Amino acid sequence: MKTFHAKAQSRKDNRQETSTYISPLRFSLRLCVFARNFFFVLLFIRVVAVHASTPARVVISIDAAGQAKVEAELASPSRSWSFLNAYAGALGFAERVKDFRAMNGADVKKIASGEYRSEGDFTRISYTVVLSQPTPAEVPHVSWIVAGRGVLMFADLLPRDFKTFSVEFKLPPGWTVESSLPSDKIGHYEVLDPEKTVVVVGNTLHRETNTKLDLVVSGAWPFKDDKALDAATQVLKHYAALTAFTLPYKPLIAIVPFALAGSKWKAETRGATIVLLIDPTVHFDTWIGQLKVIFTHEVLHLWVPNSLHLEGDYDWFFEGFTLYVALRTALELKVINFRGFLETLAGAYDAYLSHPDDVSLIDASEAR
Ligand SMILES: [Zn+2]
Repeated sequence: MKTFHAKAQSRKDNRQETSTYISPLRFSLRLCVFARNFFFVLLFIRVVAVHASTPARVVISIDAAGQAKVEAELASPSRSWSFLNAYAGALGFAERVKDFRAMNGADVKKIASGEYRSEGDFTRISYTVVLSQPTPAEVPHVSWIVAGRGVLMFADLLPRDFKTFSVEFKLPPGWTVESSLPSDKIGHYEVLDPEKTVVVVGNTLHRETNTKLDLVVSGAWPFKDDKALDAATQVLKHYAALTAFTLPYKPLIAIVPFALAGSKWKAETRGATIVLLIDPTVHFDTWIGQLKVIFTHEVLHLWVPNSLHLEGDYDWFFEGFTLYVALRTALELKVINFRGFLETLAGAYDAYLSHPDDVSLIDASEAR
């Protein structure tokens, strides 16, 4: 295989997107052609391993101050619990776990950040996660609850050996929970892939839905929910046709206000959920147009990489590919004109040339 070289991207360029109109492409066009050829070969469903054992049961109690108390009944006894502590530039957030206990009063030792051990085996644990003070580096990659709303990501909220479980939420009065997962009649959710599962909670959530897509909006915005849903659905249909692959689930897009330092918006696409955080004080001339630009990128991440069966660090592959295809899509859907397309492409290529080309793709991926 021909060796391609790419620049190390900053972690900010991961599926956390920045508020620039279309981020600089940092990959040569020859890479995009290479990537596109392989894209159609590689695309298939990520198979979720469903464990045969009885799922664990989890109750998450949220308070309005931004603390989540987690009580879990495990499927089998354990004496070791480990929390995710680093993800896409965010580091050390397992320190938000407090007061970890095994039921029956057993002594549990914290041996390192996010690492807990006990002498005996236990099937019930409880702890609290402080979600009220996320740092700029952590958002939108980790769970948070601020000012009556929040995003919960099971990847950092539960120990990493929780593979399948049933979860129930206890929320402050007036709050609701929204997720791409269906709940049963008594409000329990079956989680089969916690690393990819995201839920939105808050006291002002409204849902707009059609047969292809769900949109959850927190709070009041200058755009109409149905127009935003239409814009996202148009992009979704475009990618379903482009890839000839229909997503085996109904995705959910959540638009949530969040005061961001230095950015107008940030987004994270995880599993079937796109979380778009927008600074509530920001001004866009054309809200639906701006949302559509964001959707051309984020919605494609539902396919690339989220539907690709790739092992390892392929950030160099999917981010550059997504930037390029999103730009072409914005042109085809007439969100931008041809001059804007060329100017963005030229700017991206100049940015590419301005960096030393001395890192292999594998090194670039590992160094991100
Ligand atoms: Zn991206």
